[in-house]
Amino acid sequence: MLQWTFLAIALALATVAVRPKEAAPSPARSAVVAPGLFPLPCADAGPLRPHTRGYCLIRRHYVREAPRAALLRAAATLQARHPGTIVRYMEASWPIGTRPMPPHLSHGDGRQIDLALFYVDLKGLPLVAAPTRSGYGAYEPPLKSGDRRCTGATARAPGIAAPDPAAGRRWRLDEVRTAALVRLLAADPQVRRVFIEPHLKARLGLSDLGKVRFAGCRAARHDDHIHVDFF
Ligand SMILES: [Zn+2]
Repeated sequence: MLQWTFLAIALALATVAVRPKEAAPSPARSAVVAPGLFPLPCADAGPLRPHTRGYCLIRRHYVREAPRAALLRAAATLQARHPGTIVRYMEASWPIGTRPMPPHLSHGDGRQIDLALFYVDLKGLPLVAAPTRSGYGAYEPPLKSGDRRCTGATARAPGIAAPDPAAGRRWRLDEVRTAALVRLLAADPQVRRVFIEPHLKARLGLSDLGKVRFAGCRAARHDDHIHVDFF
């Protein structure tokens, strides 16, 4: 978890550093953005928002033009079907436009983004956002242990392995809205593939979608977020 710990610290520092009235332009903020990259919306408004503004402050909110349009389309469509729903993004790409962007195996060239899953409370009421500070880490474990793909010789490496959440957690996956978002994305011609864990693909009724794939056991768990690759 070392690399994700680094991300958590960076986000925390970015949040602490928010002083809009006294902030002076820093070299990092004034750095050139690679041609073809555009920032995603950072405001606390609209159907597509960062999980936390920290992702904008550490400048990992850049994507290419077509992915940006596709994400806005999907978020607007989902909100029209499920009023009040906000699609929250976490890490997209940094401004230099090269990949990989650590701690990810990819990301960085404006063609990848991580989106939060949707959750409900124990009464089934929608949560406004994933129940973690970073948006990552609210894992939805397999319903049956036999559905876990990365075990034994294929178990994830210690650096990226993450434990299941406590059985007594106060949130659960919102299957309806999560499945709807994946379907919208997979239907978009700009989307190359979507990574989620195989147990979620089956559980959410997405087995017919060839674009929805398993990232493998060398990648981070994808039952706490959706990774989207664009062409
Ligand atoms: Zn990703």
